[in-house]
Amino acid sequence: MKIYADNAATTSTSKAAIEAMLPYMDAICGNPSSLHSFGQEAKEALEQARADIANELGCTPREIYFTSGGSEADNQAIISAAKFGERKGKKHIISTAFEHHAVLHTLDKLKKEGFEITLLDVHENGVVTAEQVAEAIREDTALVTIMYVNNEIGTIQPIREIGAVCREKKVPFHTDAVQAVGHIRVNVADDNIDMLSLSAHKFHGPKGIGVLYCKLGIPLVNVIEGGAQERGKRAGTENVPAIVGMAKALKDANSNLDCDNAELLAKRDRLIAGLSEIPHSALNGDREKRCPGTVNFCFEGIEGESLLLLLDDKGVYASSGSACTSGSLDPSHVLLAIGRVHDVAHGSLRLSFDSSITDEEIDYIIKAVKDVVEYLRNMSPVWRDLMAGKRQFIL
Ligand SMILES: *Cc1c(COP(=O)(O)O)cnc(C)c1O
Repeated sequence: MKIYADNAATTSTSKAAIEAMLPYMDAICGNPSSLHSFGQEAKEALEQARADIANELGCTPREIYFTSGGSEADNQAIISAAKFGERKGKKHIISTAFEHHAVLHTLDKLKKEGFEITLLDVHENGVVTAEQVAEAIREDTALVTIMYVNNEIGTIQPIREIGAVCREKKVPFHTDAVQAVGHIRVNVADDNIDMLSLSAHKFHGPKGIGVLYCKLGIPLVNVIEGGAQERGKRAGTENVPAIVGMAKALKDANSNLDCDNAELLAKRDRLIAGLSEIPHSALNGDREKRCPGTVNFCFEGIEGESLLLLLDDKGVYASSGSACTSGSLDPSHVLLAIGRVHDVAHGSLRLSFDSSITDEEIDYIIKAVKDVVEYLRNMSPVWRDLMAGKRQFIL
């Protein structure tokens, strides 16, 4: 059996999206900036896609900027708010400790330029609150940027409430909604969002294309200089095929949202129940406030990398929370942010799937994880010490 359980890393491009894209690589391959009718046909498709995406997000087409993906959209949103804040003497930014690196590394760069960054603590359940945001906002706050759904543990943040606090205090609010859009209901007007990043390859669209939504009146700076595309805010010939494919994938995803999909929720619950039977294990993130397709567990006494390799041998393609940084294995910053200690955070596993997964595949995954965890624990000196009472169990 081969089971792809890494949809939070990327998804396959849907057949429908691929079909929608094909003509724009071939029969209608013109440059939307060209004045001839061949180019103008591509321009029409581009503007139709913009209108469709705006409609899905609850904004106007003029508020949609196409980017190369989620990372670029995050960079542009944060840098824009920082530059405009700076002009008014505002050099303070609020975010959280468990953002994606596209946000955290941009904030690191701004810190070196003299910005003060407040990273809010994340509660054990993987959620930050609007009250925390309200308390952290100051006179000189230029931006609040908080992710909608966490990419490692799948927890959903109270974005509407956080947005309301920012509105009241007149601070621009950006959200990295890459793991939310196409999975749960997201509406920028209802959710009080000023800027939002999304990426097509997380909802069965193509890779290398995304959107920055920017509310009218919120200024943007360029991060890529060149031609006058995207109303002068993002240079470079528009990736028309990918943009058309993204619009199609988003319409399809929103017409069958994961959060409304009772079957998917039942499969998710079956997986959580099965993995919870493993002794000294724990689900990461709130049991209820979570996206339907992402499950993340810690298993005490094992090491995530070995777990992944052995699962790979069994045909289960998953991910651990941990990232390998310059030769040393650092545990996931997300798991540390929700208070997991290093030893426990090392033994993490993220399984992320879509509605195509079957009960049979869920059961196969449960059995595979149980077997591999047991195998690794039997070889682990740490586990032996735990069993012998020489160390205390944490989970
Ligand atoms: C995948 C992801 C990104 C990066 O998006 P790309 O399109 O791959 O650049 C940013 N934020 C989150 C939460 C993500 O999951």
